[in-house]
Amino acid sequence: MKVMVIGRGGREHSLIQTLAKSEGVSKLYAAPGNAGVEAERVAIPETDQEKLVAFAKENAVDLTIVGPENPLLEGLVDRFEEAGLRVFGPSKAAALIEGSKHFAKKLMADYDIPTAAYEAFTEVEPAKAYIREKGAPIVVKADGLAAGKGVVVAQTLDEALDAAEEMLVNGQFGEASREIVVEEFLQGEEFSLMAFVNGRDVYPMITARDHKRAFEGDRGPNTGGMGAFAPVPNLEPGAYEFAVESILQPTADAMVSEGRPFVGILYAGLIETNEGPKVIEFNARFGDPETQVVLPLLENNLEQVFVDVLEGRNPKLRWKDATCAGVVVASKGYPGAYEKGRPVPVLDSGATFTVHAGTEVSEDGYVSNGGRVLLVGSEAANLPVALENVYDHLQQFDGNKDFFYRRDIGLSSVTASMS
Ligand code: ATP
Repeated sequence: MKVMVIGRGGREHSLIQTLAKSEGVSKLYAAPGNAGVEAERVAIPETDQEKLVAFAKENAVDLTIVGPENPLLEGLVDRFEEAGLRVFGPSKAAALIEGSKHFAKKLMADYDIPTAAYEAFTEVEPAKAYIREKGAPIVVKADGLAAGKGVVVAQTLDEALDAAEEMLVNGQFGEASREIVVEEFLQGEEFSLMAFVNGRDVYPMITARDHKRAFEGDRGPNTGGMGAFAPVPNLEPGAYEFAVESILQPTADAMVSEGRPFVGILYAGLIETNEGPKVIEFNARFGDPETQVVLPLLENNLEQVFVDVLEGRNPKLRWKDATCAGVVVASKGYPGAYEKGRPVPVLDSGATFTVHAGTEVSEDGYVSNGGRVLLVGSEAANLPVALENVYDHLQQFDGNKDFFYRRDIGLSSVTASMS
Protein backbone atom coordinates (compact mmCIF):
# COMPACT_ATOMS: atom_id res chain seq x y z
CA MET A 1 0.00 0.00 0.00
CA LYS A 2 1.24 3.51 -0.84
CA VAL A 3 0.60 5.96 1.98
CA MET A 4 1.00 9.74 2.10
CA VAL A 5 1.21 11.72 5.34
CA ILE A 6 0.42 15.44 5.12
CA GLY A 7 2.26 17.74 7.54
CA ARG A 8 5.78 18.54 8.71
CA GLY A 9 5.90 18.22 12.50
CA GLY A 10 6.81 15.61 15.09
CA ARG A 11 3.32 14.12 14.92
CA GLU A 12 3.73 13.43 11.22
CA HIS A 13 7.23 11.99 11.66
CA SER A 14 5.87 9.68 14.34
CA LEU A 15 3.08 8.52 12.00
CA ILE A 16 5.70 7.82 9.34
CA GLN A 17 7.99 5.96 11.75
CA THR A 18 5.07 3.76 12.76
CA LEU A 19 3.90 3.16 9.18
CA ALA A 20 7.47 2.44 8.03
CA LYS A 21 7.61 -0.56 10.39
CA SER A 22 4.68 -2.20 8.63
CA GLU A 23 5.20 -4.74 5.85
CA GLY A 24 1.89 -3.69 4.35
CA VAL A 25 3.31 -0.28 3.42
CA SER A 26 5.29 -0.41 0.17
CA LYS A 27 5.87 3.33 -0.29
CA LEU A 28 5.64 6.36 1.99
CA TYR A 29 5.32 9.99 0.95
CA ALA A 30 5.59 12.99 3.28
CA ALA A 31 4.08 16.28 2.09
CA PRO A 32 6.22 18.14 2.91
CA GLY A 33 7.69 16.26 5.94
CA ASN A 34 10.87 17.23 7.76
CA ALA A 35 14.53 16.19 7.60
CA GLY A 36 13.96 13.05 9.67
CA VAL A 37 11.20 11.31 7.74
CA GLU A 38 11.73 7.78 6.42
CA ALA A 39 9.68 8.71 3.35
CA GLU A 40 9.96 10.39 -0.03
CA ARG A 41 9.47 14.09 0.59
CA VAL A 42 7.02 15.90 -1.67
CA ALA A 43 7.50 19.66 -1.87
CA ILE A 44 3.82 20.60 -1.65
CA PRO A 45 2.54 22.64 1.30
CA GLU A 46 -0.28 21.23 3.47
CA THR A 47 -2.74 23.83 2.22
CA ASP A 48 -2.28 23.38 -1.56
CA GLN A 49 -5.32 21.19 -2.11
CA GLU A 50 -5.13 20.98 -5.91
CA LYS A 51 -1.48 19.93 -5.98
CA LEU A 52 -1.94 17.37 -3.20
CA VAL A 53 -4.93 15.77 -4.96
CA ALA A 54 -3.05 15.74 -8.29
CA PHE A 55 0.01 14.17 -6.67
CA ALA A 56 -2.05 11.46 -4.96
CA LYS A 57 -3.76 10.62 -8.27
CA GLU A 58 -0.60 10.60 -10.37
CA ASN A 59 1.23 8.40 -7.90
CA ALA A 60 -1.70 6.09 -7.14
CA VAL A 61 -1.53 6.81 -3.41
CA ASP A 62 -3.82 4.30 -1.67
CA LEU A 63 -4.28 6.17 1.61
CA THR A 64 -3.63 9.76 2.74
CA ILE A 65 -3.50 10.83 6.37
CA VAL A 66 -3.84 14.51 7.24
CA GLY A 67 -1.86 15.59 10.32
CA PRO A 68 -2.55 19.27 11.12
CA GLU A 69 -5.86 21.05 11.76
CA ASN A 70 -5.62 23.89 9.26
CA PRO A 71 -5.93 21.80 6.10
CA LEU A 72 -8.80 19.85 7.70
CA LEU A 73 -10.70 23.06 8.44
CA GLU A 74 -10.05 24.22 4.89
CA GLY A 75 -11.74 21.08 3.53
CA LEU A 76 -8.78 19.02 2.29
CA VAL A 77 -10.51 15.74 3.14
CA ASP A 78 -13.62 16.81 1.21
CA ARG A 79 -11.44 17.54 -1.86
CA PHE A 80 -9.75 14.13 -1.66
CA GLU A 81 -13.11 12.39 -1.35
CA GLU A 82 -14.57 14.31 -4.30
CA ALA A 83 -11.59 13.06 -6.31
CA GLY A 84 -12.36 9.46 -5.26
CA LEU A 85 -9.19 9.19 -3.15
CA ARG A 86 -9.04 7.30 0.16
CA VAL A 87 -8.22 9.68 2.99
CA PHE A 88 -8.33 9.48 6.78
CA GLY A 89 -9.53 12.64 8.52
CA PRO A 90 -12.69 14.62 9.20
CA SER A 91 -14.63 16.64 6.63
CA LYS A 92 -14.64 20.42 6.94
CA ALA A 93 -18.07 20.20 8.59
CA ALA A 94 -16.86 17.69 11.21
CA ALA A 95 -13.54 19.46 11.86
CA LEU A 96 -15.58 22.37 13.26
CA ILE A 97 -15.49 20.54 16.59
CA GLU A 98 -11.92 21.90 16.79
CA GLY A 99 -12.35 25.00 14.61
CA SER A 100 -15.07 26.63 16.71
CA LYS A 101 -15.04 26.48 20.49
CA HIS A 102 -18.59 27.84 20.54
CA PHE A 103 -19.73 24.98 18.29
CA ALA A 104 -18.00 22.40 20.51
CA LYS A 105 -19.43 23.91 23.72
CA LYS A 106 -22.97 24.05 22.30
CA LEU A 107 -22.69 20.45 21.13
CA MET A 108 -21.64 19.38 24.64
CA ALA A 109 -24.42 21.42 26.27
CA ASP A 110 -27.06 20.03 23.88
CA TYR A 111 -25.99 16.40 24.38
CA ASP A 112 -25.14 16.46 28.11
CA ILE A 113 -21.41 15.89 27.63
CA PRO A 114 -19.58 17.03 30.79
CA THR A 115 -17.68 20.29 30.36
CA ALA A 116 -17.21 23.68 32.06
CA ALA A 117 -20.27 25.99 32.20
CA TYR A 118 -19.99 28.76 29.58
CA GLU A 119 -21.49 31.59 27.56
CA ALA A 120 -20.46 32.79 24.09
CA PHE A 121 -20.27 36.47 23.12
CA THR A 122 -19.70 38.69 20.09
CA GLU A 123 -20.26 41.95 22.02
CA VAL A 124 -17.87 43.10 24.72
CA GLU A 125 -20.28 44.66 27.26
CA PRO A 126 -22.39 41.53 27.84
CA ALA A 127 -19.14 39.52 27.99
CA LYS A 128 -17.78 41.84 30.68
CA ALA A 129 -21.05 41.73 32.63
CA TYR A 130 -20.92 37.91 32.60
CA ILE A 131 -17.26 37.93 33.72
CA ARG A 132 -18.10 40.32 36.61
CA GLU A 133 -21.07 38.20 37.60
CA LYS A 134 -19.04 34.96 37.69
CA GLY A 135 -15.80 36.36 39.14
CA ALA A 136 -12.21 35.10 38.83
CA PRO A 137 -10.58 32.71 38.20
CA ILE A 138 -12.32 32.44 34.85
CA VAL A 139 -11.28 31.39 31.35
CA VAL A 140 -11.60 33.50 28.17
CA LYS A 141 -11.17 31.77 24.80
CA ALA A 142 -11.13 32.96 21.21
CA ASP A 143 -13.71 30.95 19.27
CA GLY A 144 -11.45 30.00 16.34
CA LEU A 145 -7.94 28.65 15.86
CA ALA A 146 -5.23 30.81 17.41
CA ALA A 147 -2.23 28.45 17.42
CA GLY A 148 -2.68 27.61 21.11
CA LYS A 149 -2.49 31.31 22.11
CA GLY A 150 -6.21 32.09 22.16
CA VAL A 151 -6.88 30.90 25.71
CA VAL A 152 -6.48 33.14 28.78
CA VAL A 153 -6.81 31.42 32.14
CA ALA A 154 -7.44 34.60 34.11
CA GLN A 155 -6.62 34.63 37.82
CA THR A 156 -8.06 38.12 38.31
CA LEU A 157 -11.13 39.95 37.10
CA ASP A 158 -8.98 42.61 35.37
CA GLU A 159 -7.07 40.00 33.43
CA ALA A 160 -10.32 38.45 32.19
CA LEU A 161 -11.87 41.82 31.29
CA ASP A 162 -8.70 42.82 29.40
CA ALA A 163 -8.68 39.52 27.51
CA ALA A 164 -12.30 40.01 26.43
CA GLU A 165 -11.53 43.58 25.34
CA GLU A 166 -8.39 42.56 23.43
CA MET A 167 -10.18 39.77 21.60
CA LEU A 168 -13.55 41.37 20.82
CA VAL A 169 -12.67 45.06 20.48
CA ASN A 170 -9.04 45.06 19.38
CA GLY A 171 -9.34 41.99 17.17
CA GLN A 172 -6.34 40.30 18.77
CA PHE A 173 -6.78 37.11 16.76
CA GLY A 174 -8.65 38.60 13.78
CA GLU A 175 -11.55 36.47 12.59
CA ALA A 176 -10.72 33.80 15.23
CA SER A 177 -11.67 36.20 18.05
CA ARG A 178 -14.75 37.78 16.46
CA GLU A 179 -16.56 35.61 18.98
CA ILE A 180 -15.36 34.43 22.40
CA VAL A 181 -16.30 31.75 24.87
CA VAL A 182 -16.12 32.62 28.58
CA GLU A 183 -16.07 29.54 30.75
CA GLU A 184 -15.88 28.30 34.30
CA PHE A 185 -12.37 27.59 35.62
CA LEU A 186 -11.90 23.89 36.29
CA GLN A 187 -9.37 22.48 38.73
CA GLY A 188 -7.70 19.11 38.36
CA GLU A 189 -5.14 17.00 36.55
CA GLU A 190 -5.35 17.11 32.76
CA PHE A 191 -5.05 14.14 30.44
CA SER A 192 -5.94 13.43 26.87
CA LEU A 193 -7.62 10.55 25.15
CA MET A 194 -7.61 10.08 21.39
CA ALA A 195 -9.82 7.69 19.45
CA PHE A 196 -10.10 6.39 15.89
CA VAL A 197 -13.67 7.32 14.91
CA ASN A 198 -15.95 6.56 11.98
CA GLY A 199 -19.46 7.89 12.58
CA ARG A 200 -20.74 6.08 15.66
CA ASP A 201 -17.76 3.67 15.78
CA VAL A 202 -15.27 4.74 18.45
CA TYR A 203 -11.97 2.91 19.07
CA PRO A 204 -10.11 4.59 21.92
CA MET A 205 -6.34 4.64 22.29
CA ILE A 206 -4.44 4.82 25.58
CA THR A 207 -4.36 7.97 27.70
CA ALA A 208 -1.55 10.52 27.51
CA ARG A 209 -0.47 13.66 29.32
CA ASP A 210 1.40 16.54 27.74
CA HIS A 211 3.14 19.53 29.27
CA LYS A 212 2.15 22.73 27.49
CA ARG A 213 4.09 25.40 29.37
CA ALA A 214 7.56 26.38 28.19
CA PHE A 215 9.41 26.10 31.51
CA GLU A 216 9.80 23.80 34.49
CA GLY A 217 7.12 23.84 37.17
CA ASP A 218 4.49 24.56 34.47
CA ARG A 219 5.62 28.16 34.23
CA GLY A 220 6.04 30.46 31.25
CA PRO A 221 3.97 30.81 28.10
CA ASN A 222 1.92 28.05 26.50
CA THR A 223 3.64 26.14 23.72
CA GLY A 224 2.58 23.42 21.31
CA GLY A 225 3.79 20.98 23.99
CA MET A 226 7.19 20.37 25.61
CA GLY A 227 6.89 16.66 26.36
CA ALA A 228 4.42 13.88 27.02
CA PHE A 229 4.01 10.37 28.31
CA ALA A 230 1.54 7.51 27.89
CA PRO A 231 -0.36 5.91 29.46
CA VAL A 232 -1.15 8.15 32.46
CA PRO A 233 -0.47 5.99 35.52
CA ASN A 234 -2.46 7.74 38.22
CA LEU A 235 -5.98 8.31 36.90
CA GLU A 236 -8.93 7.86 39.23
CA PRO A 237 -10.47 4.38 38.92
CA GLY A 238 -13.15 4.42 36.22
CA ALA A 239 -11.91 7.68 34.65
CA TYR A 240 -10.89 5.97 31.40
CA GLU A 241 -14.20 4.12 31.05
CA PHE A 242 -16.10 7.33 31.83
CA ALA A 243 -14.11 9.24 29.21
CA VAL A 244 -14.97 6.62 26.58
CA GLU A 245 -18.61 5.95 27.49
CA SER A 246 -19.76 9.37 28.67
CA ILE A 247 -17.56 11.64 26.53
CA LEU A 248 -16.11 10.14 23.32
CA GLN A 249 -19.04 7.87 22.39
CA PRO A 250 -21.80 10.46 22.96
CA THR A 251 -19.73 13.07 21.12
CA ALA A 252 -19.35 10.81 18.07
CA ASP A 253 -23.09 10.05 18.23
CA ALA A 254 -23.90 13.76 18.58
CA MET A 255 -21.87 14.58 15.47
CA VAL A 256 -23.88 11.99 13.51
CA SER A 257 -27.15 13.45 14.84
CA GLU A 258 -26.01 16.92 13.82
CA GLY A 259 -25.41 15.74 10.25
CA ARG A 260 -21.64 16.11 10.65
CA PRO A 261 -20.46 12.51 11.07
CA PHE A 262 -16.89 12.51 12.30
CA VAL A 263 -14.30 10.31 10.58
CA GLY A 264 -10.74 10.59 11.82
CA ILE A 265 -8.99 11.07 15.12
CA LEU A 266 -11.15 12.61 17.81
CA TYR A 267 -8.93 14.05 20.54
CA ALA A 268 -10.49 14.88 23.90
CA GLY A 269 -8.50 17.19 26.18
CA LEU A 270 -9.87 16.26 29.61
CA ILE A 271 -9.53 17.38 33.21
CA GLU A 272 -10.22 15.19 36.25
CA THR A 273 -12.45 17.29 38.48
CA ASN A 274 -14.12 16.34 41.78
CA GLU A 275 -17.19 15.59 39.70
CA GLY A 276 -15.28 13.30 37.31
CA PRO A 277 -13.59 13.98 33.95
CA LYS A 278 -14.79 17.00 31.96
CA VAL A 279 -13.88 18.23 28.49
CA ILE A 280 -11.47 21.15 28.15
CA GLU A 281 -11.34 20.96 24.37
CA PHE A 282 -11.74 18.73 21.35
CA ASN A 283 -9.25 18.44 18.55
CA ALA A 284 -10.03 16.87 15.19
CA ARG A 285 -6.64 15.21 14.68
CA PHE A 286 -3.73 13.50 16.41
CA GLY A 287 -2.19 15.50 19.26
CA ASP A 288 1.40 16.69 19.09
CA PRO A 289 3.43 15.52 21.09
CA GLU A 290 0.96 12.89 22.45
CA THR A 291 1.11 10.93 19.19
CA GLN A 292 4.87 10.52 19.54
CA VAL A 293 4.41 8.64 22.83
CA VAL A 294 1.17 6.79 22.04
CA LEU A 295 1.94 5.26 18.63
CA PRO A 296 5.15 3.47 19.74
CA LEU A 297 2.96 1.41 22.09
CA LEU A 298 0.52 0.32 19.36
CA GLU A 299 0.99 -3.32 18.37
CA ASN A 300 -1.27 -3.31 15.29
CA ASN A 301 -0.13 -2.32 11.81
CA LEU A 302 -1.19 1.31 11.66
CA GLU A 303 -2.23 1.40 7.98
CA GLN A 304 -4.49 -1.59 8.62
CA VAL A 305 -6.10 0.26 11.53
CA PHE A 306 -6.88 3.24 9.27
CA VAL A 307 -8.32 0.97 6.56
CA ASP A 308 -10.37 -1.09 9.02
CA VAL A 309 -11.87 1.99 10.61
CA LEU A 310 -12.66 3.54 7.20
CA GLU A 311 -14.32 0.30 6.04
CA GLY A 312 -16.41 -0.09 9.18
CA ARG A 313 -14.44 -2.93 10.80
CA ASN A 314 -13.23 -3.05 14.39
CA PRO A 315 -9.42 -2.68 14.18
CA LYS A 316 -9.08 -4.56 17.50
CA LEU A 317 -6.42 -2.25 18.90
CA ARG A 318 -3.68 -3.90 20.95
CA TRP A 319 -1.23 -2.00 23.17
CA LYS A 320 2.12 -2.94 24.63
CA ASP A 321 2.19 -3.30 28.39
CA ALA A 322 4.79 -0.54 28.67
CA THR A 323 5.18 3.21 29.09
CA CYS A 324 6.51 5.70 26.59
CA ALA A 325 7.84 9.15 27.47
CA GLY A 326 9.16 11.93 25.24
CA VAL A 327 10.83 15.28 25.88
CA VAL A 328 10.93 18.06 23.30
CA VAL A 329 14.15 19.88 22.46
CA ALA A 330 13.21 23.43 21.45
CA SER A 331 15.01 26.45 20.01
CA LYS A 332 15.98 29.01 22.67
CA GLY A 333 13.36 31.76 22.63
CA TYR A 334 10.47 29.46 21.63
CA PRO A 335 7.48 30.05 21.75
CA GLY A 336 8.64 33.63 21.07
CA ALA A 337 11.27 34.63 18.50
CA TYR A 338 14.15 32.19 17.89
CA GLU A 339 16.92 31.59 15.39
CA LYS A 340 16.81 28.94 12.70
CA GLY A 341 19.65 27.16 10.92
CA ARG A 342 21.50 26.15 14.10
CA PRO A 343 23.33 22.78 13.99
CA VAL A 344 21.33 19.99 15.66
CA PRO A 345 23.25 17.11 17.20
CA VAL A 346 21.30 13.88 16.65
CA LEU A 347 23.03 10.96 18.31
CA ASP A 348 21.67 7.44 18.24
CA SER A 349 21.13 5.50 21.39
CA GLY A 350 19.85 2.01 22.08
CA ALA A 351 17.40 3.05 24.77
CA THR A 352 15.85 6.07 23.05
CA PHE A 353 14.35 7.09 19.74
CA THR A 354 14.31 10.50 18.04
CA VAL A 355 11.35 12.13 16.35
CA HIS A 356 12.15 15.14 14.17
CA ALA A 357 9.98 18.27 14.08
CA GLY A 358 11.60 21.57 13.02
CA THR A 359 14.67 20.15 11.26
CA GLU A 360 16.21 20.52 7.81
CA VAL A 361 19.33 19.07 6.24
CA SER A 362 22.36 21.16 5.31
CA GLU A 363 25.77 20.19 3.96
CA ASP A 364 26.97 19.86 7.54
CA GLY A 365 24.11 17.75 8.83
CA TYR A 366 20.83 18.58 10.54
CA VAL A 367 19.95 22.19 11.27
CA SER A 368 17.00 23.66 13.15
CA ASN A 369 14.06 24.99 11.18
CA GLY A 370 11.38 25.57 13.81
CA GLY A 371 10.54 26.16 17.46
CA ARG A 372 10.17 22.55 18.47
CA VAL A 373 13.14 20.82 16.92
CA LEU A 374 13.03 17.21 18.07
CA LEU A 375 11.57 14.87 20.62
CA VAL A 376 13.69 12.27 22.36
CA GLY A 377 11.56 9.37 23.51
CA SER A 378 11.91 6.04 25.22
CA GLU A 379 9.76 2.99 25.72
CA ALA A 380 10.28 1.13 28.98
CA ALA A 381 8.56 -1.04 31.57
CA ASN A 382 7.55 2.01 33.59
CA LEU A 383 7.63 5.80 33.58
CA PRO A 384 10.70 6.33 35.81
CA VAL A 385 12.86 4.13 33.57
CA ALA A 386 11.55 5.71 30.37
CA LEU A 387 12.32 9.17 31.74
CA GLU A 388 15.75 8.15 32.95
CA ASN A 389 16.62 6.88 29.47
CA VAL A 390 15.42 10.11 27.86
CA TYR A 391 17.19 12.41 30.30
CA ASP A 392 20.46 10.45 30.11
CA HIS A 393 20.39 10.90 26.37
CA LEU A 394 19.47 14.58 26.55
CA GLN A 395 22.67 15.39 28.45
CA GLN A 396 24.26 15.90 25.05
CA PHE A 397 22.26 19.16 24.83
CA ASP A 398 23.48 20.48 28.18
CA GLY A 399 25.48 23.65 27.67
CA ASN A 400 24.13 24.00 24.13
CA LYS A 401 23.47 27.70 23.45
CA ASP A 402 20.83 27.15 20.82
CA PHE A 403 18.39 24.71 22.42
CA PHE A 404 16.59 23.97 25.69
CA TYR A 405 14.36 21.29 27.16
CA ARG A 406 12.23 20.88 30.28
CA ARG A 407 13.78 18.73 32.99
CA ASP A 408 10.54 17.85 34.76
CA ILE A 409 8.41 16.08 32.16
CA GLY A 410 6.39 13.34 33.86
CA LEU A 411 8.00 13.99 37.21
CA SER A 412 4.80 14.61 39.16
CA SER A 413 3.42 11.27 37.95
CA VAL A 414 6.53 9.22 38.70
CA THR A 415 5.69 8.46 42.31
CA ALA A 416 2.21 7.40 41.32
CA SER A 417 3.50 4.97 38.70
CA MET A 418 5.80 3.30 41.24
CA SER A 419 3.12 2.79 43.87
P1 ATP B 1 -4.26 23.69 21.91
O1 ATP B 1 -2.87 24.21 22.08
O2 ATP B 1 -4.40 22.28 22.41
O3 ATP B 1 -4.85 23.93 20.57
P2 ATP B 1 -6.26 25.54 22.69
O4 ATP B 1 -5.71 26.83 22.27
O5 ATP B 1 -7.31 24.91 21.88
O6 ATP B 1 -5.09 24.51 22.95
P3 ATP B 1 -7.44 24.81 25.23
O7 ATP B 1 -6.90 23.43 25.18
O8 ATP B 1 -8.91 25.01 25.22
O9 ATP B 1 -6.77 25.77 24.17
O10 ATP B 1 -6.82 25.47 26.55
C1 ATP B 1 -5.42 25.55 26.75
C2 ATP B 1 -5.10 25.25 28.19
O11 ATP B 1 -5.76 26.19 29.03
C3 ATP B 1 -5.60 23.89 28.67
O12 ATP B 1 -4.70 22.86 28.41
C4 ATP B 1 -5.80 24.13 30.16
O13 ATP B 1 -4.58 23.98 30.86
C5 ATP B 1 -6.22 25.57 30.23
N1 ATP B 1 -7.69 25.64 30.29
C6 ATP B 1 -8.55 25.72 29.26
N2 ATP B 1 -9.83 25.74 29.67
C7 ATP B 1 -9.80 25.67 31.02
C8 ATP B 1 -10.79 25.66 32.06
N3 ATP B 1 -12.09 25.74 31.77
N4 ATP B 1 -10.37 25.56 33.34
C9 ATP B 1 -9.06 25.51 33.65
N5 ATP B 1 -8.07 25.52 32.72
C10 ATP B 1 -8.42 25.60 31.43
